[in-house]
Amino acid sequence: MTGRILVVDDVATNRIVMKVKLAAACYAVDQADSGAEALRLAATCRPDLILLDVLMPDMSGLEVCRRLKADPETADIPVILVTALSDRASKMAGLEAGADDFLTKPVDEVTLLARVRSLLRASDTVRELRERGDSSVGMGFAEAMAGFDTKERPGRIWLVAPGSKGAVVWKTALDDQVGGEVRVVPREIALTEIGVDDGEAADVFVISADLAHRNEGLRLLSDLRSRAATRHAATLMVLPDGDSERAAIALDLGASDILYEPVDTQELAIRIRAQLGRKRQADRLRASLRAGLELAVTDSLTGLHNRRYALFQLERMLARPGRGVAVMMLDLDHFKGINDRHGHAAGDHVLRLVARRLRAQLRSGDLLARIGGEEFLVALPDADRADAIECAERLRSSIADTPFDVDRDLPATRVTLSVGLALAAAASGESPGSLIDRADRALYGAKSHGRDQVTLAGLPAA
Ligand code: GH3
Ligand code: MG
Ligand code: MG
Repeated sequence: MTGRILVVDDVATNRIVMKVKLAAACYAVDQADSGAEALRLAATCRPDLILLDVLMPDMSGLEVCRRLKADPETADIPVILVTALSDRASKMAGLEAGADDFLTKPVDEVTLLARVRSLLRASDTVRELRERGDSSVGMGFAEAMAGFDTKERPGRIWLVAPGSKGAVVWKTALDDQVGGEVRVVPREIALTEIGVDDGEAADVFVISADLAHRNEGLRLLSDLRSRAATRHAATLMVLPDGDSERAAIALDLGASDILYEPVDTQELAIRIRAQLGRKRQADRLRASLRAGLELAVTDSLTGLHNRRYALFQLERMLARPGRGVAVMMLDLDHFKGINDRHGHAAGDHVLRLVARRLRAQLRSGDLLARIGGEEFLVALPDADRADAIECAERLRSSIADTPFDVDRDLPATRVTLSVGLALAAAASGESPGSLIDRADRALYGAKSHGRDQVTLAGLPAA
């Protein structure tokens, strides 16, 4: 995996050592020699990950980390604190400051690279979900998605350790600290008692690398990663002290985080909280994405866009520069009669054919949507009056001039269309609602003057 990594250290030699290690693994490396420079580069270069020295003259790495995490623009960038300090207090402070991990100098290369890979993978997932989510939010679904936050349930944390004793000690220490439901579960349960819907599964698994057998925890990890119900759960692997080789393997197998024995339960609690937060964020993004996709943008009968999409698209069209926007409201004439004479299925068939004929008359940048039973909306970007009238007339005649084969045993049926056309001058500032309203009134005029015709709307009220 490639990525852009920002190395922050006030000592040039340290930066260079780090750069050599990372460059050998094909990462692009930027360097900063102070906290201030780090914040500047984080905002401008958008690195995928930051390796941050703790002791720097101008600002401590902890402070830099806190500021990065407080700014929504940089909060998603994973941070690894790197320092000569190895005391427990500074380690906790680093994790509390929002750092994703803490490495002690001299940094072990295998651990470093495995950790980098794992963090880049995790942030990549968040970024992808965000990007896909943004496009559905853009479609006007934001309001439909509001309220997801309120449904949050307490996190589920499952502990899987050899024998039950070790895990019970963890549980006792964790119960008050993580704000979730902590359970000790045997390996088999972790695999089988996973609910059918993923609402039942744990959010965070804490797993010992070795259970009844050596590496059994690692195998459980890959198992969990491959099952639909637990694929998105966070996994914290606990390894024997100094077993950096298997730590690297665990990270590459998809572990979200690593911890060494003897387990410091305060550290465990902090790491669980961080994983729970990240899992929630990803769950929320996935849920909003699903909601966005469910609120389909297409009309299932005709395959055209639906009303919701049309309104969103029209708003964007009006915001763009150009000669002006033409909006047409189209309504089939006496369509009820088609249903009455030939049946509803035949009516549906006609609607599909109408959609196809209308589409054939328009350019790809034009908007065509079915916004009601037998009502359509057309919007032409960058159109002047003559273009718009000509297009509306073309749409009308594409329906009226060729009768429809509604029923195989009957002669083709003539169907006609009335059109109301409204024009918005460039940068007129008119709202989509007002424009549609004018087109609607013009359509009403076309109906009352005999149908099968195009009527031009009056100017907007001043
Ligand atoms: P007008 O010229 O005044 O528009 O007459 P109309 O009969 O087309 O208008 P009206 O609004 O009275 O009736 C619309 C009809 O369109 C009623 C309904 O049966 C039919 N319709 C609406 N949606 C569908 C649909 O999805 N499928 C079918 N087959 N018919 C539909
Ligand atoms: Mg009608
Ligand atoms: Mg109608």
